[in-house]
Order: sequence, then structure tokens, then C-alpha cells
Amino acid sequence: MTEETLFSKIIDKSLPSDMVYQDDLVTAFRDINPAAPTHILIVPNRIIPTVDDVQDSDEATMGRMLRVARDLAREEGIAESGYRLIINCREHGRQEVPHLHMHLLGGRDLGFMVAREK
Ligand code: 5GP
Repeated sequence: MTEETLFSKIIDKSLPSDMVYQDDLVTAFRDINPAAPTHILIVPNRIIPTVDDVQDSDEATMGRMLRVARDLAREEGIAESGYRLIINCREHGRQEVPHLHMHLLGGRDLGFMVAREK
């Protein structure tokens, strides 16, 4: 059995969150420390630690995450102005929580995608 994660406890509601969406494959909730006016995390209900751990059988879940991101962006009123989807992976990606999650960020100009080395 896969160990529980912070996000699996949010998914099963044993930890509180500002949840905005849940279905059979994915859950979405607002980031506790938002970096933009809209900052929502979209996570697979199945515990997948990183993008590198995604299985071929997770394809439907990965597609669902994108569809839910599209719908939530529309609901948040940021679809027209634009937004950014980010999935961090492991150390160089600065992934903090070992449960795959996609950030949906918008509501302001987000600047350049990645800080460039000087
Ligand atoms: P990462 O750096 O792993 O891509 O992003 C982890 C995100 O999870 C961070 O943006 C952080 O603010 C958010 N986060 C960490 N702990 C909690 C929590 O307990 N609840 C919620 N809603 N978000 C959290």
C-alpha cells in the first residue's frame, strides 16, 4: 500500500482544505500560500509521487487534470487573460510535496517562465 501524503489526507478530507473540485480521478483545492490571485492545485486521487512515476494506465487521469484546469480557469475568470500550469518534479524542479500536483496560477501577469541564470 502506498503511504499517505499531505495531499492524500486533503483528498480523503481528513485534513481541511478549500476544495473547489473533486471527481473519481482528481481533486482540486486552493494553495495554502498562494503565489497569484488564483492558485489552485490539481492532484490525482491516486498517490503518484512525481511525474516520473506516472504509469501508462494513468493516461486518463493526466487528461482529466488538464480538462479540470481548463474548466477551473474559466470558472475563476482567468481563461481570457491567461494563466500558467506548472508541475514541479523532484529536486531541480523544487517539488516540495511528493504527491504529483499541477499548479493553476493566474489573475496577474506571471512574468517570465523561469528565472535565467546570470
Ligand atoms: P511544490 O513546490 O511541491 O510544487 O508545491 C507544493 C505546494 O503545496 C506549495 O505551493 C504549497 O504552498 C502547497 N501546500 C503545502 N502544504 C499545503 C497544505 O497543507 N494545504 C494546501 N492547500 N496547500 C499546501
